[in-house]
Amino acid sequence: MLGNATPRRMAPKGLSKMTEVHSASSFEAIVIGAGVIGSGVAFELSRRGLRTLSIDKLGGAGHGSTSSSSAVVRFNYSTKAGVALAWEGMHYWRNWADYLGNGTNDAGTLGPLAEYFRAGILLLKSEGTNEDAFLPLYEELGVPCEDLDHDETIARWPWMDLSRFGPPTRLEDERFWADPTEQLAGSFYCPDGGYISDPMLAAQNLCDAAKRAGAQFWFNTEVTAINSSQNRVTGVTLSDGRVVSAPVVVNVAGPYSFHVNQMAGVVEGMGVVPKPMRREVHVAPAPSNVDYDKDGVLFADLDAGTYTRPERGNLVLIGGVEPECDPLEWVEFPDDASTQVTDAEFELMVLRAARRITGMGVPPQKSGVVGVYDASPDWTPIYDRSDLDGFYMAIGSSGNQFKNAASAGHCMAELITAVEAGHDHDSDPLVVFGRFTGNPINLGTFSRKRVISDSSPATVLG
Ligand SMILES: Cc1cc2nc3c(=O)[nH]c(=O)nc-3n(C[C@H](O)[C@H](O)[C@H](O)COP(=O)(O)OP(=O)(O)OC[C@H]3O[C@@H](n4cnc5c(N)ncnc54)[C@H](O)[C@@H]3O)c2cc1C
Repeated sequence: MLGNATPRRMAPKGLSKMTEVHSASSFEAIVIGAGVIGSGVAFELSRRGLRTLSIDKLGGAGHGSTSSSSAVVRFNYSTKAGVALAWEGMHYWRNWADYLGNGTNDAGTLGPLAEYFRAGILLLKSEGTNEDAFLPLYEELGVPCEDLDHDETIARWPWMDLSRFGPPTRLEDERFWADPTEQLAGSFYCPDGGYISDPMLAAQNLCDAAKRAGAQFWFNTEVTAINSSQNRVTGVTLSDGRVVSAPVVVNVAGPYSFHVNQMAGVVEGMGVVPKPMRREVHVAPAPSNVDYDKDGVLFADLDAGTYTRPERGNLVLIGGVEPECDPLEWVEFPDDASTQVTDAEFELMVLRAARRITGMGVPPQKSGVVGVYDASPDWTPIYDRSDLDGFYMAIGSSGNQFKNAASAGHCMAELITAVEAGHDHDSDPLVVFGRFTGNPINLGTFSRKRVISDSSPATVLG
């Protein structure tokens, strides 16, 4: 059952004068970017009755960084709002057809849908797992989690080697090859964790749902300027010179967000500034004696420096968790990032995973994808307004916000509604209530003006 399922017309001050105008060059909201989050924002705005235009320079929804996402759904974040948003986000995936169909339950008419695999997720107990932060939040927000000791973990996943390998090192460090002498204490297991089968399809599902709710999508169309007058956004200019007007513009440009914020002149007013970061994700065969599709599990492994999940076809998908020994690959512009998986990173990541997954080896052929994160210094997104009235941002997704695409879309639409109606979000941060869980999500946590401290998250786990 979806709360707030009935679309409601938004009649905030800044928008009311636009509602009578219906030309191809004026809208009530423009969303820059049609990735999974941008399409989620477009759906939530249009289902509230806003005449919404999404613009993307690529050829279709989800063709940007969304296409390389590992699409892992987990709940261990270090803030209450982070856990609440992720737990809420999972409910959208579990109720995907119902949500996209706006409560009609008519999945038959929606076309192929991204599937949620509830494979369960483990966080191995090791240095930095931060359970003192997230376990009380799980309890408060209703996230089921089992505390498993070493033997219970091995009994459930007998292919797992729980030796202590960490702290993570690189292959050229002799400590990498040293025989382990200790065992990890066990794991925290969330049975509701999992992954999305096809991240690009998920974005397309949201795009289609937004179109059904009245949104337009212009693909192969690039925004080159953000227009404003008297500190109020008035619309955008496209690369072919066309001007499109709207009193609300939302930056959901993924790793291009910094450049779009520069166009709007809003970077100065931000305490946290996300930048593009290149990342490789690798895929290798699971051991042949394990049916990993059935008996595999997702796990985050700060001790070895990886996260892994089953990939269809008895494969293991392997990503990194930014241990100190791994250099971060910042790039000036996302298009500068090499799109080739490198031999060195492939070998390192597969060997890290192979120490944990007994019987796994490094295949002769490397396989994987290269993606670009829009990485914040504290690995936390920004879901906020900007210092320019009417200009909003859903950015800094930092390699961990795919799971929140729909819940963040809801939060952004609530934020835009409230701020356009006069709410002072900067001095009184908006609290949004989850459609499914009813949990409060304090959007102040995702403020552009937050201050980074020593206790801010230091890895992609956020
Ligand atoms: C390798 C990798 C692994 C990840 N793994 C996970 C995971 O396991 N779990 C998880 O929750 N999250 C994960 N993430 C993060 C998640 O995938 C992203 O947060 C999410 O896909 C971002 O969606 P988006 O809509 O914000 O951006 P994008 O998908 O990048 O879309 C932005 C769009 O904006 C468009 N654009 C940019 N500038 C302009 C312009 N000037 N004019 C017009 N269009 C423009 C681009 O063409 C692009 O299509 C991962 C990310 C990567 C890269």
